Amino acid sequence: MLRYPLLDRAKLVAAFLVIAIHTGPLQSYSSYGDFVVTRIAARLAVPFFFATAGFLLYRKLYGLAEDGVVVRRYAGRVLLLYAGSTLLYLPLMLYAGYLSDMHGVRDVLRVAVFDGTFYHLWYLPALAIGVLLVYALSRRLSAAWAVGIASVLYLAGLLGDSYYGLAASAPALDAFYDSLFGLFTYTRNGLFFAPLYLALGLLVAEQTRARTRPPARAVWIGLAVSVVLMSVEAILLRTWELPRHDSMYVFLAPAVYCGLLALTRRSSRASGKRGMRDVSLWIYLLHPLVIVLVRGLAELLGAVPWLVTDSMLHYVAVAAGSWTISILAVRWWPAQARKGPSVPRSSRAWKEIDLGRLRHNLAELRRAVRGDCQVMAVVKAEAYGHGGALAARWLQGEGVREYAVACMDEAIALRKQGVRGDILILGRTSPERYRELIRYRLQQTVVDAEDAVALSRYGRTITVQVKLDTGMHRLGESTDRFERVLSIYRLPHLRIAGTYTHLGSSDRLEQTDEALARAQVGRFDAVVARLRGCGIDPGLLHVQSSYGIVNYPELSYDRVRPGIALYGALSTREPVRQALDLRPVLALRARVSTVRQVARGEQIGYGSDCRAAADRLVAIVSIGYADGVPRVYADGGRVLVRGAYAPIVGRICMDHLSVDVTGREDIHPGDPVTLIGRDGAHAITVEEVAERCGTIANELLSRIGRRLDCMVHPPEVQDGETEFMVC
Ligand SMILES: *Cc1c(COP(=O)(O)O)cnc(C)c1O
Repeated sequence: MLRYPLLDRAKLVAAFLVIAIHTGPLQSYSSYGDFVVTRIAARLAVPFFFATAGFLLYRKLYGLAEDGVVVRRYAGRVLLLYAGSTLLYLPLMLYAGYLSDMHGVRDVLRVAVFDGTFYHLWYLPALAIGVLLVYALSRRLSAAWAVGIASVLYLAGLLGDSYYGLAASAPALDAFYDSLFGLFTYTRNGLFFAPLYLALGLLVAEQTRARTRPPARAVWIGLAVSVVLMSVEAILLRTWELPRHDSMYVFLAPAVYCGLLALTRRSSRASGKRGMRDVSLWIYLLHPLVIVLVRGLAELLGAVPWLVTDSMLHYVAVAAGSWTISILAVRWWPAQARKGPSVPRSSRAWKEIDLGRLRHNLAELRRAVRGDCQVMAVVKAEAYGHGGALAARWLQGEGVREYAVACMDEAIALRKQGVRGDILILGRTSPERYRELIRYRLQQTVVDAEDAVALSRYGRTITVQVKLDTGMHRLGESTDRFERVLSIYRLPHLRIAGTYTHLGSSDRLEQTDEALARAQVGRFDAVVARLRGCGIDPGLLHVQSSYGIVNYPELSYDRVRPGIALYGALSTREPVRQALDLRPVLALRARVSTVRQVARGEQIGYGSDCRAAADRLVAIVSIGYADGVPRVYADGGRVLVRGAYAPIVGRICMDHLSVDVTGREDIHPGDPVTLIGRDGAHAITVEEVAERCGTIANELLSRIGRRLDCMVHPPEVQDGETEFMVC
């Protein structure tokens, strides 16, 4: 996992600043000094906590298909912590009469949802609400929109906080805020305050991910300027007596944003004492308790004049006490809670997706094509078994703007998971569903002239790409019938974004194959030229899928449509003209369920004809044809266990298969078994398995079973490290 050492240290500083807010270390020395420390400097602390939380959470989400679940779980854990903290503070709440002015449901809601059950605990519900809100906004819209909308909320919050004087002088606004303050005591809450800082955390995560972080110099200058402006702002507001409460400033936001950028510039892979990162949280949660303890102790020892009256000594005592208790809390907290996610021991069969390799393959494909030719990523069939939204969203982060899928439902699924940009449906869509093309902003392939007429008849503008049949005789209007091709482009209500064809034999370099491919390209070019001759703009042109790229690299159209190559494979092990350095993205693994001795002549699995020719040691592996291992693979198939090959024996069952591990006493239930992928010095490629099964890699991958677990290997984690994110 990535760590941000500077961030962790800054969080600790922020925690001590929060203690300063609640103790006022300079109070007994200088009221102006106290103002500067607690109302200016220390005001950076809590927003910074929010921004950091946002950054760390949202950063984790890239590459996760089920990120909504992760966010909801996070919010759930925060609320659990809130419940626990409330219990801890319950005696103090009762003692301080915190509960006595709660009368109706409305009061309970106000305290529980917004104000917090104790004076510092508002942070936790605000975090939970904010995290969900910002996540929803960024999913529906984008990170920039999330920041924008959160800023508007923040502005509204400002008028109820440091700038309240302005609102109070306008009667309509005043009434509005009056009614708001019936719902909560401060606008510094999960609606008006936390979202902006969480969204800024998200923005920094996104900029880090897309490598569009502003340069270091600009960040430092921005930080310095915003802190100065914020100080001036705070001083002026105080002079003009505008604040009702003073935790929100305009320039606090850029200061925190620049601060977060500066502190996350350097990351490290250090593991070490992970628990130390939580000390700041514990200090935050526990220091009010320590304040009470210090006061009690001072009275008991007759040390009130020092430990309480002297604000500086009081602060030091509370800070030291909070630090000590927090360190102890971190130590004692169940170690399991601190463990990072790793390969789940419980997984029966799983696929591992290495997104770093997907990134690598994309770069390799981009390198292979002409400079301004873009990649339209083919992510049909769940991105060839890798997870459609997972792959598309990751590629989106790598700058891919166009995707191709087989059908409407695949396209909608991508949209719902936050994929933006153009999504082209490669197959025919039934007229009943044209409405959804518009609703989800999808591009539809015109599969022939009749299809075009139907699309046009719908009467509302539909964006399409025209497919031409240049000889494969699958989809597309035939290039032999130019008049019909032309008629498509002249129909009303069709916005034609592109024209494309698909090669039927680009995967082999035999003379006949090559002649066919070249003939297809010739027909495509000829029709495009004639269309242009008729004054028609055919839009973006594209011809090559993976094999088009590796075997016909000299072709140069506006787009390429790689599928299988993106995933680091080719269909077969046939030679290609331009070998690329493609790295397999997917590994397929299962576990040994049991190991058993089978005596000579005894049956192994289904079929009385499957008998052990000699005494055998057989490992039963928890994966079968329902998980995508073809039944025919039993003939000559093999797996890797503990770094060595083991042949498959007997038939492949729906959920199990057996392998021969005779002479290998080191194999035990629970051991991982590799069907596709690397294990130690050896590897089994998907092409090898496909060849054994008499098929192509594309079929094997796209048939990978849905019930497999999926482990995503984030690129931040180097090869060999075993930390995975589980989705
Ligand atoms: C599936 C498909 C592709 C991608 O093919 P690969 O061989 O996997 O690269 C490209 N174009 C069309 C029309 C397809 O159907």
